[in-house]
Amino acid sequence: MSLRARLSFLYTSIVGGILLLFGVAIYSAIRVSLLNQIDTTLKNTASDIIANITVDENGELEVTSSPNLEFLADVFVQVWDRDNKLRFASQNIGNLNEAMDESSLQSTETQVKDIVLVTDFGNTHLRVLTVALVIGDRQIGAIQVGTSLAVVDTTQKSLLIVLILGLVVSMGIAGVASWVSTRQALAPLEDVTTTALQITRADDLSRRIPYQGPINDEVGQLIHAFNQTLSRLENLFHTQRRFLADVSHELRTPLTVIKGNVDLMRRIDTVDYESIDSIESEVDRLTRLVGDLMLLAQAESGKLPLAMHLIELDSLLLEVMQQMRVFARGKVQLKLGDIDQVLVCGDQDKLKQVLVNLISNAINYTPTDGEVVVGVGKIGERARITVRDNGPGIPEKDLPYIFDRFYRGEKSRTRPKQGKGFGLGLSIAYWIVRNHNGTIEVDSKLGEGSTFRVWLPLATDNCQEEGEIEGGT
Ligand code: ADP
Repeated sequence: MSLRARLSFLYTSIVGGILLLFGVAIYSAIRVSLLNQIDTTLKNTASDIIANITVDENGELEVTSSPNLEFLADVFVQVWDRDNKLRFASQNIGNLNEAMDESSLQSTETQVKDIVLVTDFGNTHLRVLTVALVIGDRQIGAIQVGTSLAVVDTTQKSLLIVLILGLVVSMGIAGVASWVSTRQALAPLEDVTTTALQITRADDLSRRIPYQGPINDEVGQLIHAFNQTLSRLENLFHTQRRFLADVSHELRTPLTVIKGNVDLMRRIDTVDYESIDSIESEVDRLTRLVGDLMLLAQAESGKLPLAMHLIELDSLLLEVMQQMRVFARGKVQLKLGDIDQVLVCGDQDKLKQVLVNLISNAINYTPTDGEVVVGVGKIGERARITVRDNGPGIPEKDLPYIFDRFYRGEKSRTRPKQGKGFGLGLSIAYWIVRNHNGTIEVDSKLGEGSTFRVWLPLATDNCQEEGEIEGGT
């Protein structure tokens, strides 16, 4: 059964159930009220009659004067003596000689019963009150006062018809209304299904589900979440495509160079050492690329093996500075800024790689005679490494993307001199830092320079001294 049918059935059943309960309550209340009225009339009539009865010393009873029963044309009265002889009967009772309620005549208790009296003229539904006439502990007779229940029966019958009709009509209306309203409410879900199918068929992740309704109701939230998922999937899909294109591009260049050099040597039929050097450098480049890609793949999936140790960041920084000075010589001034003793828990080689990537970028992108200042310190509960340069800065439009894989700024791409990088350095640094539960951020102003900051948690007592653990993302 469809959700729509199930909901409609549920609503209709609830409406039906509630109306049924109300119906039963109204039906019972009206019956009780009508019978109470009748019982009061019967009791009053019985009292009137008792007031007109006399009893002689033998216990024989007699109705002395006929009570005024004219105003109660529908009330039938019988007075019976202790020998079950009829001593008085109201005129409207005709020639009925048996008791209206035979079974209650001998009872010493007051009884009220609904009976069906079978006469020559047909069946009559009566309510009969039997009052025992007792003197001391002697029963001297009984009075029976009865009245027809025709009005009550007719009223109840009509009420029952009205209630059943009302129930059927209301359930019909509730069924149709809920069928229509659930259709409206569920229509956006059909849109979700249609769009999902279109995406599958057309392989087009750019489609979104149109929705005009309020965004904060359940359906609005569902559609919003679905559209967000689609955007994310589209983004991932594009990133994947771009990644494949970037990798193919990066692989093709060195392979073309290698093939060209091999062809050249084959043509000249001799070993050309310049070509061999070129081939070697391209193979090194390819090896670096594959290594970087593997590291990124591990880091992005949170499976980067980290040999966690207590690391003195200041010593590590000094060590990297020592190496990078050779690299910076004659180009930029590599200076040591504020430096503090800082202990972190991390993988020495990986953190070294972060420093090398940041400092080599600063040296690479800063023009001759520029300045690169490196520092490390403690800020609150965290360690902060700073790499500041007064290079060209990073354009604002590039800033959100510089930590993406293969992203290279416009200038870096067009400058063959700096064509060594693959656009993976910052991405690798970002993921290594993240695997150390740290963050990396950049401040940059065009024409003034860039400052990269790496934040890492300070070492705690339980830093693993030996062995490898897996970093989390
Ligand atoms: P690569 O250096 O191989 O191009 P990176 O991932 O290390 O790749 O850097 C991404 C981009 O960020 C660079 O292409 C460059 O445009 C920009 N960038 C990084 N560091 C700096 C810096 N210190 N100054 C200016 N631009 C930078």
